[in-house]
Amino acid sequence: MASKISAVILSLSFFSSFVAISSQNDEYDPTIKTMEQFSGYQIHDSISSLSVHTQNLQRQIDELSSFSDTPAPSVTRVLYSEKDVLARGYIKKLMGLSGLSVREDAVGNIFGRWVGSQPELAPVLTGSHIDAIPYSGKYDGVVGVLGAIEAINVLKRSGFKPKRSLEVIMFTSEEPTRFGISCLGSRLLAGSEELKELLKKTVDSQNISFSDAATFAGYTLNEDLSSVFLEKGSYSAFIELHIEQGPILEEEGISIGIVTAIAAPASIKVDFEGNGGHAGAVLMPKRNDAGLAAAELALAVEKHVLESGSIDTVGTVGILELHPGAINSIPSKSHLEIDTRDIDEKRRNLVIEKIHKSALRISKSREVNLSEFKIVNQDPPALSEDSIIEATESACQELKLSYKKMISRAYHDSLFMARISPMGMIFIPCYKGYSHKPEEFAAPEDVANGVKVLALTLGKLSLS
Ligand SMILES: [Zn+2]
Repeated sequence: MASKISAVILSLSFFSSFVAISSQNDEYDPTIKTMEQFSGYQIHDSISSLSVHTQNLQRQIDELSSFSDTPAPSVTRVLYSEKDVLARGYIKKLMGLSGLSVREDAVGNIFGRWVGSQPELAPVLTGSHIDAIPYSGKYDGVVGVLGAIEAINVLKRSGFKPKRSLEVIMFTSEEPTRFGISCLGSRLLAGSEELKELLKKTVDSQNISFSDAATFAGYTLNEDLSSVFLEKGSYSAFIELHIEQGPILEEEGISIGIVTAIAAPASIKVDFEGNGGHAGAVLMPKRNDAGLAAAELALAVEKHVLESGSIDTVGTVGILELHPGAINSIPSKSHLEIDTRDIDEKRRNLVIEKIHKSALRISKSREVNLSEFKIVNQDPPALSEDSIIEATESACQELKLSYKKMISRAYHDSLFMARISPMGMIFIPCYKGYSHKPEEFAAPEDVANGVKVLALTLGKLSLS
């Protein structure tokens, strides 16, 4: 209660100083004065008026998690499902309540705009996703959407007037659950012709086409999907608030992570084919075991990654399947899926090259056929924009919050937005770094800190 009262007093003192300024000098445009305060000249009064409605925000996070196809505490919310449609309605309602003008594009990326005093300037965009993989938690993505709407509320309550328009986005389908395509909405926004074409023939595991699924959710795709594409420069900045999904901030007791780069993944599919045979009858010198070829390649992936000399290079064989999968049968086929990431694209591509060479060498030495070596995707990493890093950093300093610059090893919609807009990300700590499981948790005060930093950063970017 005491803190509530002091918050009210603080915000009253902010407004009274505001009134005093405008009555002192009638030519003074109070809007501009507020802008100056937010651009760092007289920041102290405005800082104290940045109050997050923490309990309300937590209630919204809880309410949104109830739109789920699995029981609490797990959350399952798959693209264009009934629950996804309900959750979308919930987000649009909150955007409306915050006074944002809401629009949706053809695939259901949802935008809510607060028009600035100079609407002709490129707006500042913030947001994340709310879809959730099966049996996951309620914070991944959600913090960056509900938190963004609350950041707008924070700015509005403080009396701030944006110069550049501020816009909140909820991206369609960050998770690849339904159609096997991650960051579907942001890839399209970034103008992926390849994805536009692919979506014409994409079906889910139930053989429902992307277009039919979208229609179910109320989006008719008969218009050309290139209507979703954004031109480079449509936004002056994009910034995403997200839980860290790793343990560093919590372990080190740091409030805010400022992302400097997002490591980008490449994924590779590999198939080996041998002759198979009876596990007893075929003698060792006569074998060409596709399973052992796969095992050797898995170890080669680890070796090449470690050889890169950088801690930022990682590689994983997450799928290794053997055919026919019987104890008494020599594997005649093997299938591997390899994920490798780095913040340095050249270094990562060198690892891919080495993996390819190893696959060829193994197929030769083991006399198995390398029937497929397919690079499924090879996205470039993204660097955050210096000016956004600086704005976030000074926001942390002004709010007296500890912060650390760090790399995002998971990728996000930000990776693709970086192709068309200067990009930045704000991380908050989460319990033990857990994510994509029901135990995922971020403390309300950590979420509130993230929202405050986001609000102040948006304020600064709006005036820049
Ligand atoms: Zn996410």
